[in-house]
Amino acid sequence: MRQSTFSNKTIVRWRDDVENPINQPESYGPPLADAELRLDTLSAQVIANLHTLRHPETDWMPSLIGPDGKSLLDVLVVGAGQGGLGIAGSLMRERVTNILVIDKEPRGSEGIWNSHGRMPVIRSPKHYPGPDMGIPNLTYEAWHKAAYGDRSWEAIVLVPIDNWIKYLGWVRQTLNVPVQNNTELLKIQPVGNAMKVTLKGLAKIEVLYVRRIVLATGHDGTGEWWLPDYLASLPTNLCAKASDPINFNVLANKKIAVLGVGATAGDNAICALQAGAEVHMFCRRDTHRRQQVYRWCITSGFLRHFGDLDDATRWRFMHYILNTRMGMPPETWSRANGHPNFKLHTNSNWKSVRIAGDGVLIKTEQGPFEADFIIACAGHNQDVRKRP
Ligand SMILES: Cc1cc2nc3c(=O)[nH]c(=O)nc-3n(C[C@H](O)[C@H](O)[C@H](O)COP(=O)(O)OP(=O)(O)OC[C@H]3O[C@@H](n4cnc5c(N)ncnc54)[C@H](O)[C@@H]3O)c2cc1C
Repeated sequence: MRQSTFSNKTIVRWRDDVENPINQPESYGPPLADAELRLDTLSAQVIANLHTLRHPETDWMPSLIGPDGKSLLDVLVVGAGQGGLGIAGSLMRERVTNILVIDKEPRGSEGIWNSHGRMPVIRSPKHYPGPDMGIPNLTYEAWHKAAYGDRSWEAIVLVPIDNWIKYLGWVRQTLNVPVQNNTELLKIQPVGNAMKVTLKGLAKIEVLYVRRIVLATGHDGTGEWWLPDYLASLPTNLCAKASDPINFNVLANKKIAVLGVGATAGDNAICALQAGAEVHMFCRRDTHRRQQVYRWCITSGFLRHFGDLDDATRWRFMHYILNTRMGMPPETWSRANGHPNFKLHTNSNWKSVRIAGDGVLIKTEQGPFEADFIIACAGHNQDVRKRP
């Protein structure tokens, strides 16, 4: 009997090199003995900071009655990832407190970091802001120093994802963000002065009338992970998308074909290699991209003043950026490429794929290739019509 290639346990990340780790193990190690107390103290400081900055001091949104005769919810934030938490925190700070945040996932399982972010560290530099609302005590740095000490913060190179998840949980708790988990937004309809939203909870379908909706649904919220047509009909024991909960353990001793050479392709390749698979990565061009052009989007000039440009310039800029392939981060490439069971196939566009025996036969520009399993990392299709 075949073992399922889909795992119930959704968080599979690649393990860092023991000999050449991104973060030296001693750079963070176990939390300080009094970490809990220090984090509680930090939470209290955040509350005190917010009190000091209390303007406006009182709630000010006038209550509106909705089509069902009840008060409208002022804002529904859909998604309790870092974006949703930051938006909710900022609304509450502006004294817009009649809000609700929902997430389809259970508490602690929200966002990319709990599903298919398969790398062990966040790739952005460690000092980048998150949902901290510009309050120093609410930053990741403050959290890390409270939990692990100042020296540990100086020593880490990139933020470990497991820590980032804990930090987001601490932000949610500290700000007391009203989150309802296990609740999925199914439908939005304009009705009179409101939006009628249909939500699916664990046991029931619920209807709410709301004034404003913020979609903080993340990467997947504006489309879908793309699967070329010739792969769409393959069964799940032969093909998975990068975002699927792949059970890497059953890929040991198998020949895996990874379609794509971006960061996600690299992450999936390393997970498969570490599970004992032989991995073949396929690239359409004569080389994979090494430059990280998206990094231009994170200069303060871009972040602060992009909105000041005229529409045509903004369109041209974003069109160029979005059509540029995202390069594989160097630490990902070196770990995949350094593995003896890894091979990159360049100039190898796929023409078609068919089932052959227990595996697949891929017709590439360089000739046929047999594999046991395909991981398609062909990017994300930004198309809101793909979302219900
Ligand atoms: C593999 C990968 C690596 C990345 N690495 C980085 C990185 O290193 N640095 C960086 O800055 N960014 C990175 N990103 C981008 C990353 O997605 C964002 O920075 C971050 O996750 C955005 O947070 P978010 O809250 O907007 O979205 P998410 O973290 O994706 O959260 C969205 C939430 O919305 C919920 N949701 C979606 N639809 C519904 C619905 N209909 N009803 C209810 N809830 C819903 C989801 O369950 C989820 O919890 C990466 C993305 C990917 C895919």
